[in-house]
Amino acid sequence: MSNPTNLRTLERITARAADLGGGMQVRRVLPTRGRRMVGAWCFLDHAGPVGLNQDKPMQVGAHPHTGLQTFTWLMEGEVLHRDSLGSEQIIRPGQVNLMTAGRGIVHTEDALMPELHAAQLWIALPPAECFRAPAFDHYPDLPKWREGAADITLLAGSYAGHVAPARVYSPLVGMDLYSAEGAALTLNLIPGFEYALLPLEGQVQLEGQTFVSDEFAYLGADRDAVALELAPGSKVLLIGGEPFAQAAVMWWNFVAYSREDIARAQHDWATGDARFGPVPHEHGPRMAAPRLPWFVPDQSTRP
Ligand code: MN
Repeated sequence: MSNPTNLRTLERITARAADLGGGMQVRRVLPTRGRRMVGAWCFLDHAGPVGLNQDKPMQVGAHPHTGLQTFTWLMEGEVLHRDSLGSEQIIRPGQVNLMTAGRGIVHTEDALMPELHAAQLWIALPPAECFRAPAFDHYPDLPKWREGAADITLLAGSYAGHVAPARVYSPLVGMDLYSAEGAALTLNLIPGFEYALLPLEGQVQLEGQTFVSDEFAYLGADRDAVALELAPGSKVLLIGGEPFAQAAVMWWNFVAYSREDIARAQHDWATGDARFGPVPHEHGPRMAAPRLPWFVPDQSTRP
């Protein structure tokens, strides 16, 4: 509590609409022009809570990832995940799927019910882990407890003696806060972590400001605690982590630490390299990567 309130970081970032293809609309919170990462968290899409188009439930066709982990927090509905490791997993409400792309993986995601409420985040792998072997983990049981009138679920990292099972590669935390009747609570924060929160439903008040659904509050790294007031029926996602010393390069579905590595991933995907293997029961065309926004020399004669 070293800084007076009026000097603490508190930025409001309004999510923008994004299309996942097939008419599936989400709100994209990260990255934005002004804010690329919160710790290792480098991407955040909020889908729902809405009924999907019944004629065409969400189907995200085969697409690759590198250098990151996709972190799916499901709140309503059911989504079938399949990937090029042969994983096949239905995720249900209250569960987390964590796909570690490392040097390369391909996956599809199919909603199995008309309703969907989910947050999909990406966690950048640090430079030393960027090319590790791909993996997929499903976490059906997460640490949960009640603090005052708030129900807390620990999605990643640790908090107050609770440890989430998700295998991550840099110091970070993720929490879901829900209150049916409304709650005031104070969360202890780790000095050296930067934090942000996103109301998924309802609204939250902090330091005299109100943040409604899809208004992201970036809290910086200058607090050792934060006092929140959740309105009745509100649900809030809190993320945090140690700021990255080296900014990750993100392009389309790839994370790396050089443009050359991004361009190689792009090339390997476009040419059907074995790095990006088939997904069992793959349906529809593979997604095509958009053109790179910078010039790259011809990759066809790679060393
Ligand atoms: Mn994906």
